[in-house]
Amino acid sequence: MTTRFDAAVLRSYEGRFAVEEVVLNGGPVDGEVLVRVAGCGMCRTDLAVRRSAGRSPLPAVLGHEGAGVVVETGGPGTGLTTGDHVVLSFDSCGGCRSCLAGAPAYCDSFAALNLFAGREEKPARLTDAAGGALAPRWFGQSSFAEYALVSARNAVRVDPALPVALLGPLGCGFLTGAGAVLNSFGVRPGDTVVVLGAGAVGLAAVMAATAAGATVVAVERHPERLALAERFGAIPVHATSADLPGRVRRLTDGGAQYALDSTASAPLINDALRALRPTGRLGLVARLHTPLPIEPGALDQGRSISHVCEGDAVPGLLVPRLIGLWRAGRFPFDELIRTYPLADIDQAERDFDAGRVVKPVLVPEG
Ligand SMILES: [Zn+2]
Ligand SMILES: [Zn+2]
Repeated sequence: MTTRFDAAVLRSYEGRFAVEEVVLNGGPVDGEVLVRVAGCGMCRTDLAVRRSAGRSPLPAVLGHEGAGVVVETGGPGTGLTTGDHVVLSFDSCGGCRSCLAGAPAYCDSFAALNLFAGREEKPARLTDAAGGALAPRWFGQSSFAEYALVSARNAVRVDPALPVALLGPLGCGFLTGAGAVLNSFGVRPGDTVVVLGAGAVGLAAVMAATAAGATVVAVERHPERLALAERFGAIPVHATSADLPGRVRRLTDGGAQYALDSTASAPLINDALRALRPTGRLGLVARLHTPLPIEPGALDQGRSISHVCEGDAVPGLLVPRLIGLWRAGRFPFDELIRTYPLADIDQAERDFDAGRVVKPVLVPEG
């Protein structure tokens, strides 16, 4: 079986995405499903491929916040049937120590399965119209396309009454921020949380922490983003405020129990450490590009710092939880989304880069 469909292909690290016809040779095999994509969010990690210095092979189909409808299943073992609505998340092997311990975001094969389109297929199953191989299965899905071939482990079944086109970012960006708060920190009513950076990840963290009953302080440079964080329940603090740690400590009754950084800014991260109360915990979600100098004493009194990947989530558990919060009016992620036809992916990227949209979602028109 051969399926022809449109996909946004990136052919060079500096070039624009080009929507063109691609070819999937063969249908899903055991454990895989073919999904007709209803919408796919754009995430910073997609655009980081441009700076990957050759580590991410091109040409490739990116996109890893897909959601849509199962149109074909490979064998009975997928637990999914044709017509199921699914949110696609990151991939994991299911068999390593981390996966067995319920921590698939720390899967031993995470990089191979997700970041480097690392599934060498010979012959390539996904090609361009001329037969040239395309790096497939970015985050196990490659969803800037009309169709995505995924492993069933990537797919979380959701209620078909939901607006599936908007749900894809629950599989990565929103899951990352909300999961850090709800899973990694286990925020409870009365806790204090400071969130650095109010993009999609930070704002999801603000929403989740507010929903969990915490006092939330948001730190951000852009006034419009700060206003959004305030709308979702945070106390806004401009990132260039004088004595930022002191201000945060005063707003959090002596220091924040938790801090979440999505900026990767070393000065801000150190400010956040100074704003933590004893035993306070700082989580980093953005990839650091420079060494992070830690001041002497910054980790005294039980303070800690760690990286948090994909919100420590088991997607099959966290995605339904976030949908439940959304239904209760406590996680209004849809307010952060602007949809674009897949053909307008360049415009979406420009708007995303310029901060004009928090979360673009590309909608294939086929
Ligand atoms: Zn694993
Ligand atoms: Zn992502």
